[in-house]
Amino acid sequence: QRIIGAEAGALDRAAEGALRPRELADFVGQKKVREQLSLVLDAASMRGTPPEHMLLSGPPGLGKTTLAMIIAHELGSPLKITSGPAVQHAGDLAAILSSLEEGEVLFIDEIHRLARPAEEMLYMAMEDFRVDVVVGKGVGATAIPLELPPFTAVGATTRAGMLPSPLRDRFGFTGHLDYYTAEELSRVIARSAARLEIEIEAKSAYEIASRSRGTPRIANRLLRRVRDYAQVRGGGAITMESTLEALTVYEVDPRGLDRLDRAVLHALCTKFGGGPVGLSTLAIAVGEETETVETVVEPFLVREGLLGRTPRGRIATPAAWRHLELDAPAPNSA
Ligand code: ATP
Repeated sequence: QRIIGAEAGALDRAAEGALRPRELADFVGQKKVREQLSLVLDAASMRGTPPEHMLLSGPPGLGKTTLAMIIAHELGSPLKITSGPAVQHAGDLAAILSSLEEGEVLFIDEIHRLARPAEEMLYMAMEDFRVDVVVGKGVGATAIPLELPPFTAVGATTRAGMLPSPLRDRFGFTGHLDYYTAEELSRVIARSAARLEIEIEAKSAYEIASRSRGTPRIANRLLRRVRDYAQVRGGGAITMESTLEALTVYEVDPRGLDRLDRAVLHALCTKFGGGPVGLSTLAIAVGEETETVETVVEPFLVREGLLGRTPRGRIATPAAWRHLELDAPAPNSA
């Protein structure tokens, strides 16, 4: 796993539990979603009924699981957690649904990956608080209706567009999480450092934040690596000096690019004059699979405005040349 990867590794999962904010007021950033959510939750508690089902969408590591936990905490309701890939058969979902308590929050991560029969069972459960459990097979199969207590489904997806509309339509509230600013991530880091009982200078927190690709998970991971460095080679407290040294050791540059990102940009600029060059040629130049370059490296470079995808191939933008501290060729020199 790359140090600047947004997906959670096993070590992240183990470390993240202690760092999650438990209340909505402690959840940093995402002002709009927080405000909307707090209205939904307050209205539900005033009415004394479970809130409508909620869908949280956005890239990995931005806080969807954390928000689902906060929702349950704020409602004072139990929380059950599952995920699309874990529910392979309708029977798996029926078992989960039939064990729900009244008002329980059911969090379904990666809801876009639910198997079709489970998805259809979920429509009915969300709409009517009822499911038909099919017993037996073939002509002897019978559907046994099962009443469910009112509950709130919270779905999380990185790809809201992939959800079939019947499922999407059953959510009363959809919150879209966006990348965080460096200021917001500095607050996430300061909060995590306090939890981990680490001293950190404000400007070090900002430096780590600037390299975290707008993603709290990456910010917390970089903080843990900088902490290691400060503990082993510094005096314990995180200073600007130990921060910069640690991030150099881990090869995370000031914009959050790692060695592979830089290798791709560098090859594009120095071997192909900034492009346009075909993706597969670029991948060969850095000794990587085409798919890795396309799906793992390029999205962030495009988001940062460092690389462009054109019909004629990949191009380095002026910002890419500046970032690598290279002189861009003069226009029409090629
Ligand atoms: P995935 O879809 O990959 O599971 P996610 O969107 O569910 O990711 P979380 O697991 O909720 O992301 O968050 C990752 C880490 O970032 C957690 O340690 C969490 O505490 C922290 N985090 C996320 N958002 C915030 C926030 N707004 N404020 C403080 N910490 C946050």
